[in-house]
Amino acid sequence: MTPPIEPGPHADARAALLNKRSEIVAKVDALGAHDPAEVANLGFGKRIGDGTTYAVERMTDAYQARTIYATVAEIDHALERIDAGTYGRCVACGTAIPDERLQAVPWAALCVPCSAKPDKSKVVR
Ligand SMILES: [Zn+2]
Repeated sequence: MTPPIEPGPHADARAALLNKRSEIVAKVDALGAHDPAEVANLGFGKRIGDGTTYAVERMTDAYQARTIYATVAEIDHALERIDAGTYGRCVACGTAIPDERLQAVPWAALCVPCSAKPDKSKVVR
């Protein structure tokens, strides 16, 4: 299946990111929300009244799906940073992100102090 890749720097992180990514994509499939645009446009829509429960259910799904897509985007960015050789450094301040944090959140783009700052350096837009 996958050709053996040279274990370059961050090979573990890359594998973890790719694993997580396919896990998430499988979850999105399970939600039945394939199209991010469709998810973004989900509203209360046409059905009113007995449709409320339905709408709320769909909203929860949409919320989940949005969170999921945001995570996929972060994972993609992390993979790009691996390719660019900047992985493991805070995109805001350039400080090395501690290994424990990268192990817990392999797609972490910010060091702890930066991610604790309200707003400011939101990476994924
Ligand atoms: Zn930082």
